[in-house]
Amino acid sequence: MDQDKNAAVLIISDLHANWEALEAVAADAEGRYQRIFCLGDLVGYGADPNRVVEWARAHTAAIVRGNHDKACTGLDSTEGYNPVARISTEWTSRQLTVENFDYLQRLPRGPLPVEGFGPSFDLAHGSPLDEDQYLIAPEDAAPLRAYLETRLTFIGHTHVQGGFLLARGGTRQIDPAGTLELEPDHFYLINPGSVGQPRDEDPRAAYVIYTPEARTIEYRRVRYDVETAARKILGAGLPRALAARLFEGV
Ligand code: ZN
Repeated sequence: MDQDKNAAVLIISDLHANWEALEAVAADAEGRYQRIFCLGDLVGYGADPNRVVEWARAHTAAIVRGNHDKACTGLDSTEGYNPVARISTEWTSRQLTVENFDYLQRLPRGPLPVEGFGPSFDLAHGSPLDEDQYLIAPEDAAPLRAYLETRLTFIGHTHVQGGFLLARGGTRQIDPAGTLELEPDHFYLINPGSVGQPRDEDPRAAYVIYTPEARTIEYRRVRYDVETAARKILGAGLPRALAARLFEGV
């Protein structure tokens, strides 16, 4: 069998310094992809910022920055952040090694084009037009159709797995159940969900596998050791809410 035909990429987003979740995703996806691409927010909220950043430095082919990567390295103020997010940002800044701080500070802004895996596709954290914008409802995504340069853009930021299909007749939310077949006439904004802090009422870590030749997106969820991740958050003196929400996926 031609190996290229099965070439696939692993897309992850919003790791949020959750080592246990990242480890589970890496194990679950092992052997099923050639490259890893990441949509940002490596840090913030979780208790293992250095370990997660070091893993990303060693294993990912490309990453765009997220708002937490910016805030934790002083590129963005925490003014719009709630107290819990602000406390975790300040804690993370203090924990990061010089090398990891530097790496996060230099991450590129999305959208970032990826070539070499079928038709080129884009990586973005929030919207492809504004890295900090949340694309939550179809109304948020619909106006983007006129501006998209590629048929396929991967987005994160909301921590909700799924994304949007932008067709001529309208825009709809994608139900992230199993495998999605991409149709050539549409534009897609695909959200892999969050590895380290899911907010779609499913506490399992989320990711997708994209297979360009087959034109498929496989939505995946994997259980991980939430207890350990939560215990580390409490042990670090971070707000209890950050530990509690991991059990609920909210
Ligand atoms: Zn995030």
